Amino acid sequence: MTDIKELLLSRIRDVADYPEPGVMFKDITPLLADPAAFTALTDALAEIAANTGATKVVGLEARGFILGAPVAVRAGLGFIPVRKAGKLPGATLSQAYDLEYGSAEIEVHAEDLAAGDRVLVIDDVLATGGTAEASIQLIRRAGADVAGLAVLMELGFLSGRARLEPSLAGAPLEAL
Ligand code: AMP
Repeated sequence: MTDIKELLLSRIRDVADYPEPGVMFKDITPLLADPAAFTALTDALAEIAANTGATKVVGLEARGFILGAPVAVRAGLGFIPVRKAGKLPGATLSQAYDLEYGSAEIEVHAEDLAAGDRVLVIDDVLATGGTAEASIQLIRRAGADVAGLAVLMELGFLSGRARLEPSLAGAPLEAL
């Protein structure tokens, strides 16, 4: 294992049966509290932003905001929040998606994305891929291109990567 992988993994806490029975929650707060680990993560994600030719960073609520904002600053790019429905005050584009039970909706300010933008999407955990898939649809509907998706961690057994293959359409999915 590379040094950075080892460092990042050592700062992620597994919390069993949270927020409900059967879920192993990946708690990144120990990583955020460790400046060496948080800086290493930010640098690695900023390198992905540079390598993918991204012109903007989208962070997915809520932990994608914490990880994505410093990456945008480090990479010299604008940061755009994709929020849960009803939180953004301006004109929005919204995208509904299915959850295991029920559905959810995410939104972005329409004015924040346009044709010609190349967007790197950032989140902490890729699980089923539903949230990332909806965000990619939102970005495309705004006329922008998806430069890639970068996450701290991918839960491989949930097959999010396979689900995202069609919507990523060749854009890279990087899991640190
Ligand atoms: P999904 O749409 O299923 O890929 O879920 C991804 C979103 O849910 C991300 O924004 C994660 O922050 C959160 N999430 C899903 N599963 C976990 C988990 N086991 N631990 C921490 N966060 C998770």
